Amino acid sequence: MTRVLITAVPFGEVDRGCLDLLEEAGVDCVRNPHGRRLTEPELASLVPGVDAVIAGTEPITRTVIGAARRLRLISRVGVGLDSVDLAAAREHGVAVAYTPEAPADAVAELTIGLALSLLRGVHLANAAVRGGAWTRLPGRRLGAVTVGVIGVGRIGRRVVRLLSAFGARILANDLVRVPLAEPVEWVDKPTLFREADLVTLHVPLTPSTVGLVGPGQLAAMRPGALLVNTCRGGVVDEAALADALRSGRLAGAAVDTFVDEPYRGELVGVDTCLITAHMGSMAVDCRRRMEHGAARNVVAFLRGEPLDEPVPESEYEVQAMAPAPAE
Ligand code: NAD
Repeated sequence: MTRVLITAVPFGEVDRGCLDLLEEAGVDCVRNPHGRRLTEPELASLVPGVDAVIAGTEPITRTVIGAARRLRLISRVGVGLDSVDLAAAREHGVAVAYTPEAPADAVAELTIGLALSLLRGVHLANAAVRGGAWTRLPGRRLGAVTVGVIGVGRIGRRVVRLLSAFGARILANDLVRVPLAEPVEWVDKPTLFREADLVTLHVPLTPSTVGLVGPGQLAAMRPGALLVNTCRGGVVDEAALADALRSGRLAGAAVDTFVDEPYRGELVGVDTCLITAHMGSMAVDCRRRMEHGAARNVVAFLRGEPLDEPVPESEYEVQAMAPAPAE
């Protein structure tokens, strides 16, 4: 019997149709016993004897892949591939699939929600009222500020579309200047950090984006500027961000993704940091599409059919890339 390890959490909670799909295909499903992102050793102990993994963001490293003698497919629920060693997978003959479009609308909408919350101080007002204060904070409108969008791919493009409906001035930066229906000003990163009132990040975590927002970039941002990170921990230097917030140089940040998750680090103690628990994709419709997509990829693979959404060659190339010089 084919055995599939489901490490993604949640999976099958908003709609158990994805589990039905696997069971109807005769798959023996093994669930993540910890109910959270697994560590490398935990994962390595679970993969022997498994034919496929339906994966979240846990580290599927060379060691894990080496321990998984029967593994033939990694089916990612979602899009980020920084957690998967693609070169090691290829060397071991393991195919990799993902569901890149499914989370994009949910992440884009959360990004706009976080931007609006930061601009109006919703997180600060919530804490103040609960603390007994009745402070009416002056804020800024999204339509009255300049927003810098770094990474204009599936999610960034949607963020641009939503921002433009609010009337924001949009500065965009990407390695590739894709044609967009909305008016944006394409700028280099130094210009974007210097001019934006709010910077939002939508790049993958790759050798070229690790530490993309470090002490230098934070120091270059406008006094009172805001930062939103719904892409990946590691793209932002968390310690430098905590310093910039504590000093008051940055007025606020919203962070959904962290280097270590569940996150228990120093940003938890910084009031001006709005923290969410890597929930960019956690909208019911998007979750359903992601989980069904990941299950469909497994079933297609087991039947010897082409994968619905194989990871394209470009993702293997990006991961193999040397770190880019800082802009
Ligand atoms: P995508 O590949 O469609 O877009 C990424 C864009 O970033 C591309 O256009 C690429 O050219 C650009 N880019 C790469 N390196 C860059 C650099 N150094 N400078 C400027 N631009 C650069 O990816 P996507 O589907 O939009 O997803 C983006 C990321 O969002 C994912 O990789 C994932 O890490 C993250 N994500 C987070 C959540 C969440 O729950 N918070 C959910 C889904 C995705």
